[in-house]
Formats: sequence, C-alpha cells, structure tokens
Amino acid sequence: MKPVYERVLLKLSGEALMGDQEFGISSEVIGSYARQIKEVVDLGVEVAIVIGGGNIFRGLSGAEQGVDRVTGDHMGMLATVINSLALQNSIEKIGVQTRVQTAIEMPKIAEPFIKRKAQRHMEKGRVVIFGAGTGNPYFTTDTAAALRAIEINADVVIKATKVDGIYDKDPVKHSDAMKYETVTYTEVLNKDLKVMDATAISLCRENSLPIIVFNSLLEGNIRRVITGEDIGTTVIE
Ligand code: UDP
Repeated sequence: MKPVYERVLLKLSGEALMGDQEFGISSEVIGSYARQIKEVVDLGVEVAIVIGGGNIFRGLSGAEQGVDRVTGDHMGMLATVINSLALQNSIEKIGVQTRVQTAIEMPKIAEPFIKRKAQRHMEKGRVVIFGAGTGNPYFTTDTAAALRAIEINADVVIKATKVDGIYDKDPVKHSDAMKYETVTYTEVLNKDLKVMDATAISLCRENSLPIIVFNSLLEGNIRRVITGEDIGTTVIE
C-alpha cells in the first residue's frame, strides 16, 4: 500500500478524545490515535497534527457561563496544549519521535511554532503536534489546522470526526441524509455544511488545499485515507 500524500496535516477533535467519558482523555481513544499515526509514519508519510480542546474547555461555552470570552479562549487554547502533550506521550510510548510546538510560547514545555523547524522535524520522521491553536482568541482549532497546513505546505488536511464524511443534513437526526463523495468549498459555505468553520474553509479555498473528512474512530482509517481509499468526503474546488 503506497501513500498518495507525502505530507499531511491531521486535525483531531478534542471532543472525540473523551470517548465514552463525560470529560477528559480516554486512554482507549488516544491509544488508537497513536497506533494509527504510527502506521502512516511507518509508510514514510510526514505527519503534522492539530488537536482541539473541546474535551476540556471551549471559549464559547465558557462565555455562556459567564467567563469573559477572551479569557475563555485562552483557557481553550491551553486545553489544546494539554491534549497535545497527552498525544505526544502516547505516540512516543510506541516508538515514534515527536515535537510539540505551541502558538503561545511556553518554552519549558514545548518549542515555539517555527515553520522551518517544524518542516525539518517532519523531514527527519518526527511527528509535529501544533498546540495552542492559532494563538488568538475568536479562532478555532480548525482554522489553526488550515493555517498550519498552508504554512508547512501540507498536501491535504485530513479532518478526523465521529462520522464517516459530510452529509447534506445531520445523519444522526435524519435517516434520509445523503453523504457527499466530493463537495466544493463554495457549496460547503453556501449550504453551511458542518465541516469546519467558514474561516478555515475560506483559507483552504484561497490556497487550494483539499480537506478530507473521515471517521477516525474506526482503527486503520487514517491509513486508509492516506493510501487513497474512498472512505470519507473530499472538499475541493
Ligand atoms: N481556541 C482559540 N483560538 C484558536 C484555537 C482555539 O481561542 O486559534 C480556543 C477556543 O476557545 C476553542 C477552544 O480553544 O473553543 C478549543 O478548540 P476547539 O473548540 O476548536 O476544539 P475541538 O472542537 O476540536 O475540540
């Protein structure tokens, strides 16, 4: 099985990390992520990762409970750093080298984000995990994923979700929901399809960066996407 991409940006959801729990990090889910990542690193693919923080804290939900939005977003970004460190730990435990780079500097814990350094790490076979989102409030980790993917010249953003692609309506609520094989950036924006937020989609559109949405909870799916199996939905021009 040959990979069809040389360098990928994998976006992992923080929320999915909870697994069956109500909060925190499921060792089962993070272990599965780590094994799946190792599988593609072993194929020679260069892997960078952005992981969300929704399992720990979301700025918007905090704001609804009276936390100042900017403070809440700072808390959310720190949550992504916690997840990044947990993922780093799980990946290194199975023998793959990693580096965490953060958008907000915390040199005692991780490297700062430096594009050239990130690329060099990947060339050496290290997985680079980007923490703290974009470093700015009012943004999301989806936007951070799109931004970092463009900066490091990734071939594709692969977005891991709990569903197996993009549907015309919510497949959990509607039994007649139809899955797209491919869909354009413009259609995603016009139909407000739940893929990534509009800022992330626009960035990908402007830079012709394809996005593949797929179900990461089925073990082996990260490899299936990277070796070109049609298991999700591709967003393209
Ligand atoms: N966040 C932010 N700026 C960024 C990325 C994230 O302020 O560039 C904050 C924001 O509060 C968000 C939280 O971090 O709610 C967690 O990220 P996200 O909700 O995207 O995580 P996911 O949904 O993937 O778990």
